[in-house]
Formats: sequence, structure tokens, C-alpha cells
Amino acid sequence: MFDYLIVGAGYSGSVLAERIATQLNKKVLVVDRRSHIAGNAYDYYNEDGILVHKYGPHWFHTNDKNVFDYLSRFTEWRFHYHRVKSYVDGMLLPIPINHDTLNTLYGLKLTSPKEVQAYYDSVKVSIANPKNSEEMVISQVGEDLYQKFFKGYTLKQWDLNPKDLAASVTARIPTRTNRDDRYFTDTYQGVPKHGYTEMFVKMLSHPNISIMLQTDYKNIINDIKFNKLIYTGPIDSFFDYKFGKLPYRSLRFEHETFNQENYQGYQQINYPNDYDFTRIVEWKHATGQKSPVTTITREYSLLAEGDMEKYYPIPKEDNHELYKKYKAEVDKLENVFFCGRLADYKYYNMDQVVARALSIFEKNIANTI
Ligand code: FAD
Ligand code: UDP
Repeated sequence: MFDYLIVGAGYSGSVLAERIATQLNKKVLVVDRRSHIAGNAYDYYNEDGILVHKYGPHWFHTNDKNVFDYLSRFTEWRFHYHRVKSYVDGMLLPIPINHDTLNTLYGLKLTSPKEVQAYYDSVKVSIANPKNSEEMVISQVGEDLYQKFFKGYTLKQWDLNPKDLAASVTARIPTRTNRDDRYFTDTYQGVPKHGYTEMFVKMLSHPNISIMLQTDYKNIINDIKFNKLIYTGPIDSFFDYKFGKLPYRSLRFEHETFNQENYQGYQQINYPNDYDFTRIVEWKHATGQKSPVTTITREYSLLAEGDMEKYYPIPKEDNHELYKKYKAEVDKLENVFFCGRLADYKYYNMDQVVARALSIFEKNIANTI
């Protein structure tokens, strides 16, 4: 007999399991379809001894001290600023676009943030309230930078014209007037010192927590006794797609190890206009691992079909309308909590998912026992 059945051993499920087990002293069963814990943040040492993230690059960053302090109970950190280059016109340029991106790309000699801003002002398209991902970018940096850095990448990643994608997607990438070439400017950045999976092992190691892997909850739910359910899988699947399927993007990863210390010199290179992949990650630059060999991962985006893994909800108006129909059904349920990127159909980062799980615990779980 369990107090809680938790579907999914990613951030949402694991944070809630940890809180319920340690703070409420309740018994929890965590079930995951996959053969491992940690959800999309799962990392492992490959056959060449390199630590890689199985489901694509996970660069931790947050301004939320509460989230950072919470996760720090389960891991030490390798503090590290994430940096990304974009391959444009045969050059590797800083993305987010900054002072150096402009000077190198156009051969300009802008000397101050003021001059950089004046440049943006001279090329940007005046749009008071950007309504989509294209308008979001051209209202800041104009048509040419949009074409070079954003249009092709967004088409590859989402298979949608940026005009048809919510403004919030490209709004994730800021525009800089200075020379800061970090991908994020958050206060806390890095990767767990011994990897994400180790952090999850610590989070879930408690006598009140039982874990069942390689198990779809639908196959066991009738055989298990529990009081309350926490669901972190896809919301449409929970309701057997009764209003239709919500679309998700999936990914295909191509890992390759080279018998050399260094492959590309950078943690991540984006390819907006060349090749079919969106980006190449070279893990050692982020993890700091020393080895005479190096592993890279090329990432290809595709629509999630059939049994394929669902990675990205697609932020788009009609998808949001369909989500709201499912959400109305969730609101009718008692003793069932939905949390996470797939369950809330929201493009959350890791820190946002942790914050959401902690808040559900405080507001909806801790005070209702
Ligand atoms: P998940 O990690 O998806 O966990 C849900 C779990 O539920 C899965 O393990 C799944 O197997 C399980 N499940 C689903 N259905 C069932 C079922 N029927 N029965 C049993 N189990 C089931 N965030 C950042 O902050 N920085 C980054 O750099 C970053 N990079 C990312 C790169 C990629 C390619 C992706 C896909 C995401 C990235 N994220 C990043 C986001 C991050 O992965 C998510 O915010 C986080 O993992 C979401 O956690 P979750 O618990 O909601 O979902
Ligand atoms: N984007 C882009 N060019 C880039 C980087 C990002 O066009 O070089 C756009 C693209 O639409 C992408 C979105 O901005 O999906 C968000 O980028 P982010 O790096 O946050 O994507 P994630 O790491 O979540 O895949």
C-alpha cells in the first residue's frame, strides 16, 4: 500500500517523491517506462568513458536561489558558464547575438554598447507587441540577422515557419549590446559535479521511496494500492487522447567518438543554415572531463510519432487550446496532481520544473494531509 503513486522519475516526479518521503514520511512508488531514473536529464558514461547526456544537452542555469539550494542538497556543482557558437557564413559567431557577432559578421567597428544599440535601432522592424517568433526577432535585430541566425534553426527544430510559433520560443534568446558571450546570464550555472544521474540517485535514496523501472503505469495501476496519484507523463496520453493528440517534437541523436582530445573547441555549435542537424555538442567542454578521446552528439529534430520519445511541447495557439481542454479534465479529478513539461504541456527548463514541483508540494500536498 502506497500513499502516492508517482508516474515518471524525471525532475517533477523525483522532487515530489523526495519531498513527500522526507517531509511527510509517506510511502511513495515511482514508476518509469524507461530503464533509468532522471528523465530527460539522464547522463551516463558511454563505452569510451565519456559522460554524455542521453537526451540532449542539459545546461543547468537559474536565478532562483531556492531551486539552487534545494538541488545543492543532492549534488556539488561544477560551476561553468555555458557558451554557444553559431555557424553562419562560414564563421563561428557568438549566439546570443552581441557586439562581437556584429563586428565580425559585418566587418563593423562598433566600439560601445551605445553604438551597438544604434545599429540594432537602424535595422530593427518596429513592432510594438511581437505576436510570433519571427516578429520577436525582427523587432529586435531586423531581417538579416533573423534570416542568418534564427529562421533556418527554427524551421529545423520545429518544422514550422517562425511566424506560426509563439513569440515566447525565440524570446528565450536575448539580444546583447555588450561582449558577454555566455548563453545565459543567470546567477547559478553549471552541471552537477558527478552528473545528473548521481544527483537523482541521492534524491531518490530513501526508505520511503520504491522505484519500478521499465514499467508503464497503465500496466500496473490496477494491481497497486495507493491513495493519490502524481502524473508527469504526456497529458493527452493520460486521457487516452480523447480530444485528439497534442503534437510534440522528438529528437534523433547521433553520437560519435573521436580518437583525439578535442573535436570542435566548444561545448555547443548551432547550425542554423547548414546540414540537417540543429547543433553539435562536445560534452567534455561542459563537464570538464579529461580524456584522450572525445564524444560529440549531433541532434536532429522530428515530429514525435508512434512510440517515439516526446521531448518538446510545441508552443502554438491551437495546441494551447487543445491543452486547455485536457486541463479542464485534470481540474475535475481529485487526489491527482499533474506536474512537468509533458503533463503541463509547457516548455519548462529544469529549474522551472523544480520550482513548479516544490510549489505543488507546498501548496497542494503538504497542507492537505
Ligand atoms: P521528464 O524528464 O520528461 O520526465 C517524465 C518521465 O515520465 C520520463 O522519464 C518518462 O519516461 C516518464 N513517463 C512518461 N509516460 C509514462 C508512463 N506512461 N509510464 C511510466 N512513465 C512514464 N532544461 C534546462 O534547464 N537546460 C537545458 O539545457 C535543457 N536542455 C534540454 C534539451 C533537450 C533536448 C530537452 C528535451 C530538454 C531540455 N531541458 C533543458 C528541459 C528539461 O529536460 C526538462 O525541463 C525536465 O527534464 C522536465 O522534467 P519532467 O520531470 O517534467 O519530465
Ligand atoms: N534559436 C534559433 N537559433 C539559435 C538558437 C535558438 O533560432 O541559434 C531559436 C529556436 O527556435 C530554438 C529557440 O530559439 O528552438 C530556443 O532556443 P534554445 O537554445 O533555448 O532551445 P533548446 O535548448 O530548448 O532546444
